[in-house]
This record gives sequence, C-alpha cells and structure tokens, in this order.
Amino acid sequence: MENAYERILDSLQSKPVKRARMMRFNKPKERPYGLGKNRCVRCNRHEAHIKIHGLNYCRECFKEVSKEMGFKKYGKEV
Ligand SMILES: [Zn+2]
Repeated sequence: MENAYERILDSLQSKPVKRARMMRFNKPKERPYGLGKNRCVRCNRHEAHIKIHGLNYCRECFKEVSKEMGFKKYGKEV
C-alpha cells in the first residue's frame, strides 16, 4: 500500500506542471523524531512499529509476512 502523496502523484502523470508543483510544495516532511519518524514500509502506519533487526513493519504486516521470513510461532496454535 502507498501513502496519499504517492497516490496523488500517480494521478497527476498526465499533468506534468501540476505534478512538479505538487512535488515542490506538498512533499511530506522528513521528521527527525516523533510519531511520524518510524512508519511501516508496507502500509505506512505508525502505530505498533517493529524495528528490531531492521524490520520496520507494523504488527499486522509482521503477522502476515513473518511466516515467509522464517519466524516460528511457539506456544499454542489457535
Ligand atoms: Zn504495516
């Protein structure tokens, strides 16, 4: 999934002048600290961020991707 800014840029493919203005003035801020600094690379959510081992996923994306990455779940399988 992509964020709103990228979605709008995609919709402006046929309007290069408007697209350039959008890229110049409406670019999302680079944040040095705070909530917006750590975001999920898959869905762009900032809550429940997992950054251990450089994963940079939210908990829900981690749950979906972890089996393919080789993580095992210990304990009871529900
Ligand atoms: Zn996510």
